[in-house]
Amino acid sequence: MRCVIFSKVIGLCRKVIGGHSQDKDTAGHSTTSGLSVDTIPREQHNVSRADMSVNAIKVLNRLNRHGYQAYLVGGGVRDLLLGHSPKDFDIATDATPEQIKELFKNCRLIGRRFRLAHILFGREVIEVATLRGHHQETDTESLAKRSDNGMLLRDNVYGTIDEDAERRDFTVNALYYDISDYSIKAFGGGLKDLETATLRMIGDPATRYKEDPVRMLRAVRFATKLNMSISEETHQPIKPMAHLMKSIPAARLFEEYQKLFLSGKALANYKLLNEYGLFESLFPMSADIIIDNAGGKEDRLMQLVCSNTDKRIANDQRVTPAFIIAAFLWYPIERHAQTLITEAGLTYYDAIMVAMNDVCDAQCRSVSIPKRFSAMARDMWNLQLRLPRRTGARAFKLLTHPKFRAGYDLLLVRGEIEGGEVAELAQWWTTFQHADEKVQRDMVRKLGGPKRRRKPRKKKES
Ligand code: ATP
Ligand code: MG
Repeated sequence: MRCVIFSKVIGLCRKVIGGHSQDKDTAGHSTTSGLSVDTIPREQHNVSRADMSVNAIKVLNRLNRHGYQAYLVGGGVRDLLLGHSPKDFDIATDATPEQIKELFKNCRLIGRRFRLAHILFGREVIEVATLRGHHQETDTESLAKRSDNGMLLRDNVYGTIDEDAERRDFTVNALYYDISDYSIKAFGGGLKDLETATLRMIGDPATRYKEDPVRMLRAVRFATKLNMSISEETHQPIKPMAHLMKSIPAARLFEEYQKLFLSGKALANYKLLNEYGLFESLFPMSADIIIDNAGGKEDRLMQLVCSNTDKRIANDQRVTPAFIIAAFLWYPIERHAQTLITEAGLTYYDAIMVAMNDVCDAQCRSVSIPKRFSAMARDMWNLQLRLPRRTGARAFKLLTHPKFRAGYDLLLVRGEIEGGEVAELAQWWTTFQHADEKVQRDMVRKLGGPKRRRKPRKKKES
């Protein structure tokens, strides 16, 4: 249930900062100025410090005691207003990164594009950003930089809370909890949008997507995570602008991939990303296959893997980023291998081995996959070749393979989608794993082929 309290407070405390004019910034990009602001006093909202991370409160209080403004901001406030528990607690302040560093021994300054402070408390990291302002013509490149087509390459100009709010992505994220009086400031009608479950971009959506195309992925993610509909003007430019995602460095997209596919909404995100033509910016080879064949086995496999992942997350079971990657890339590997067989005359086994490398390298140009996960995906693909070969001692040996479970799980979903021999093979492995040794030996014997050789036992020396 969305908070009914919002409707009572909206309108009570609204004021407009600045005029509702359209400014041109230095690069000639149009920015709106003058977002409305609703201020909700402590007694009229449900956000309590008891629901916040103690460490975030420590940081807020310390900044405040030293005379700085300090706000809990963005998703932390949004989720608390909605009665959810926030994933992380981000803080905004008027202290500069250097001033923040002076206040906290456990502080590390990070980022060039967007410089900010990380305050470390064991495994918890509280992110503290200095309020951002508008870029001026006189700003040096170390502070503000845009590409020719308007993409923000550096955004380190500091400003006021009102300016900062205009630089945030969605109205439901332009929420500031003020530690000095426990009030909440909501810019651009964020509270009303939260109440009506509307995701609305601040400013002109097309300009904001140009500045940072990742905001298109964020629109999809928040729409599904918060069960919101994307407002007409916010969703309309996404499809025509989806190609801008190509300019995003692959390293930045791994994190986005994880947020999209490992947060319990993989299936909904998969569908919406496809609708907007954004899926291909993350998995171009997989998207290529399904573009002309929606509902085909490849599409169905990806949907099945997404929904299985969502179920595991709902049941608090472990998930690895490698599994979805391995499953999404399996058919591109098979397809590429097929070409290698016809054009280069390779055997199926060799073709798959070569295709694995080619596809993995190509994928890393879109979303760079950390080594430990690509190694795991390779193990899973390798197992697709090895799992059919079960005679002699092979099946017993495969059971002890460290990635057997993941490889078997991929075989299972393939079997569910493809049926036929693959389904039979998956079924064989399901039975084999749970059978006792005598039954296992019988199962292997029935396959024919070389007998399982036992290692000669060493005689005990007495
Ligand atoms: P969650 O943490 O649940 O994914 P969030 O809203 O907290 O959601 P973060 O990525 O943690 O998202 O970012 C914190 C805040 O920073 C956002 O709420 C938003 O106000 C702002 N923000 C983050 N990324 C961008 C961006 N690319 N463009 C504009 N504002 C952004
Ligand atoms: Mg957050």
